[in-house]
Amino acid sequence: MITLNAVTKRFGSLTVLDGLTFQVEPGEKLALIGPSGSGKTTILRMLMTLEHPSEGHITVDGDQLFHMRRGETLVPANEKHLHEMRRKIGMVFQHFNLFPHKSVLDNVTLAPILTQKVSKADAEARAMELLDMVGLADKAGAMPAQLSGGQKQRVAIARACALRPKIMLFDEVTSALDPELVEEVLNVMRLLAEETDMTMLLVTHEMNFARDFADRVLFFDAGRIIEDGPPSEIFTNPTHERTQSFLRKVL
Ligand code: ADP
Repeated sequence: MITLNAVTKRFGSLTVLDGLTFQVEPGEKLALIGPSGSGKTTILRMLMTLEHPSEGHITVDGDQLFHMRRGETLVPANEKHLHEMRRKIGMVFQHFNLFPHKSVLDNVTLAPILTQKVSKADAEARAMELLDMVGLADKAGAMPAQLSGGQKQRVAIARACALRPKIMLFDEVTSALDPELVEEVLNVMRLLAEETDMTMLLVTHEMNFARDFADRVLFFDAGRIIEDGPPSEIFTNPTHERTQSFLRKVL
């Protein structure tokens, strides 16, 4: 579903990702863990085409995300291609980014109506199913400001699902939440993982959740993958001293 081939990303003189190669199978639930600044979020942002690689190739669902021109990797000039690629991927951010002046229901229906020409009635029916899934059907008419952080994040998850993406990216979705609100969001993500066949990439500091949720864990350090394996292996028997010391600090 996703392939990165020798992907390097630099910001000025800083090399953030260093010749990264890995694949993600359809339906796989992948957790990206590792110290802050190791490049995890940059990978998700490249998949959303919010950043482009300095070198290398990324394919999503068999298509090149960026096109090479004269040895340089560029965001495709073709907006249609970009639009089609983005449609395959949903993302949930640390700061929910809901539209503050739109109701919960409108937040979930807006993109399908505007970008997929779904009728208002169909979009609303689907949105109500999704709000029901995240336990917020009774808040459809509420405004974001009336919701708790956990509720806002659950709306953001419903909204990301509304476009029926094949891939869902979660970027530290619980780190801005009060501790007592974390579990309700993680429960929604567990449900989503159980009930859909979406490919999911999760950047998280919640190690216990990563262990439960993921089929596979990648441990990053300084823009490279230094461990790649099932959670049972990485969390109980990491190969590298770097992983061991990281896990000692966070577990
Ligand atoms: P992580 O998600 O593992 O914490 P990030 O991918 O957010 O790491 O960041 C990796 C590195 O890239 C950090 O040193 C960060 O400061 C840097 N970085 C990220 N985005 C930019 C940017 N737009 N400009 C300059 N540096 C950036």
